[in-house]
Amino acid sequence: MGQGLSCRGSHEHRLFTAIQHGDLQTFQTLLERDPTLLHHTTVYDRHSALHIAAANGQIEILSMLLDGSINPDVLNRQKQTPLMLAAMHGKIACVEKLLDAGANVLMFDALHGRTCLHYAAYYGHSACLKAVLSAAQSSPVAASWGFARFVNVRDARGATPLHLGARQRRPECVHILLDNGALVCASTGGYGCPGSTPLHLAARGGSMDCIRELLAWGADRLQRDASGRIPYVVALKHKHGACAALLNPTSAEPLVWPSPLKFISELNPEAKALMERALMDANREREKNILKGSAYSYPSHSDTGIDDNISEASDTELCCICFEQVCTIEVQECGHQMCAQCTLALCCHNKPNPTTACLTPPVCPFCRSSIARLVVAKMESCDDTDRDVGDNSCCKLSKARKSRNSNDGGSGFKGLSSFGKMSGRSSGRIGAENEWVDK
Ligand SMILES: [Zn+2]
Ligand SMILES: [Zn+2]
Repeated sequence: MGQGLSCRGSHEHRLFTAIQHGDLQTFQTLLERDPTLLHHTTVYDRHSALHIAAANGQIEILSMLLDGSINPDVLNRQKQTPLMLAAMHGKIACVEKLLDAGANVLMFDALHGRTCLHYAAYYGHSACLKAVLSAAQSSPVAASWGFARFVNVRDARGATPLHLGARQRRPECVHILLDNGALVCASTGGYGCPGSTPLHLAARGGSMDCIRELLAWGADRLQRDASGRIPYVVALKHKHGACAALLNPTSAEPLVWPSPLKFISELNPEAKALMERALMDANREREKNILKGSAYSYPSHSDTGIDDNISEASDTELCCICFEQVCTIEVQECGHQMCAQCTLALCCHNKPNPTTACLTPPVCPFCRSSIARLVVAKMESCDDTDRDVGDNSCCKLSKARKSRNSNDGGSGFKGLSSFGKMSGRSSGRIGAENEWVDK
């Protein structure tokens, strides 16, 4: 085989193919013959070797390239970094390696002016999203821009990562972004319909889960876009009936995560996860009533295996407020226990009116001492002294509640997902991203 200049193109092609398929041996052989191949790029997109390794999740080759002091922020024709491509394709190992190598999270591509955070949110790769956020917390970005500003970074048309995640039906990414300080009511500039909030875009995309997340975080059902439309109207227009029912301003207000309360920031992660679940469950109960009798009511055959964990609790573990749920949350310092649902009811109100929002931290319902912390209860430590505190009025309340709940039948929520067809468009190609154009 000749080694002349005429063969250069084919060597280059072989190198890129070897990287794409993770063929380490061919990769090394070709580079030994001609180390300058490493600085070549593909003809059209001008992808470097690092781009190809990142997009294809070839972590071994990617690591070799980075160890060989290749610039981690090398750009292709669209000014995309290898980190953007790894985030786009959900290649978490490559994302982590690139971040370790000091890849810049605050680079903007030339397509839509988007960062790697936009890419991760748009394509719904929550692990990549978390990795980028965690890197941003300790990188120079946090110092120069501030982390909160980075979470809400806008693309060329004013879309934040939260807007993209909501539009593309990525509830997990929506949740992570909200949890990291994404602004729930930010409106876009020109992305989607001008002035859209994440809730408008979730209504457009038709994802019940994204709508639930946003509402639970206090998204405003009455906020209007530049054309004067509320999210309800957007959902109706695009025939997402069940979404519209939730967004209808006349339907019951959802419970809202009590973010203004200071103690939330001190919540331990497990206790927080329990309460988040309780909040979502409570809102789903509410949804059942909203959707009941409508064309979008839950399927009559109930999914089995849901809520069973609750009914099988033994008496010794039951919450002393509702006598329905297991004690899962412990109040500190006093040590009283209750279920996540009752804890939420205690510190969560219906969507607060900003002018009257209660900013005083809640107190323990048993001893009235202020709540310093909420932690996950240890099952065996639920003792009888606590139970005695629940008085008769509590019992009556709980019975009334119990009978109401039993009417709902506790049917599952899985049926809901069929209302909005989940199309996992996660493998979009570079430069072929289908942007939503509102007609
Ligand atoms: Zn309870
Ligand atoms: Zn107490």
